[in-house]
Amino acid sequence: MKRLACLASIYPELEDCAVVTIMGAVAAELYSLGHRANFFYLEHAMGLASSIGLGIALAQPHRKVVVIDGDGSVLMNLGGLTTLARSNPGNLVHIIFDNETLLSVGGGAPGGYRWFTTATATGTDLAGVAKAAGIERAQTVRELDEFKAAALAAIKHDRLTCIVAKVEAEMPTSFLMDVHMLENRFEFPRALQRPIGERIKGGA
Ligand SMILES: [Mg+2]
Repeated sequence: MKRLACLASIYPELEDCAVVTIMGAVAAELYSLGHRANFFYLEHAMGLASSIGLGIALAQPHRKVVVIDGDGSVLMNLGGLTTLARSNPGNLVHIIFDNETLLSVGGGAPGGYRWFTTATATGTDLAGVAKAAGIERAQTVRELDEFKAAALAAIKHDRLTCIVAKVEAEMPTSFLMDVHMLENRFEFPRALQRPIGERIKGGA
């Protein structure tokens, strides 16, 4: 299963959500599908996407928040799962793309996959960890249809959900993102000041 195909399958449903991605490949791939002002790419803060998402979810309980994370980042801050479970925001969906490698910092280089694997490559079950942390709705998906159904249901319903999507360790075709971090930092909160349901197509 490819990460980009997963993102494309839910992209239209992200229009009304606050979306926080972790850095690297997943940010570049979401950007490649079309930037929106309600997308925040959390660069240089590995492990903290769910923490940023949690803050937004608690501050705006009527807005759906979708956090798009990676296995390496989640493993770096496993406490984020326990804090999510403890706060239990029904409006938050935590998607973890698990490619069993630190792709963006070396795993994507020739042979890098061998040397930059994460603990999920050697048996750690992140959905199991999420469940044990107290997130009741946590599952692993391996097929695109399964991913799409699970993610769309989670976006629609009002329960904290964690979806671990097993994906190939594949680099994006480009890391180009023509949105400056500072621009994104101001554009995103402005988008969140808009009424829920208002279509946000381009810049805020
Ligand atoms: Mg990874």
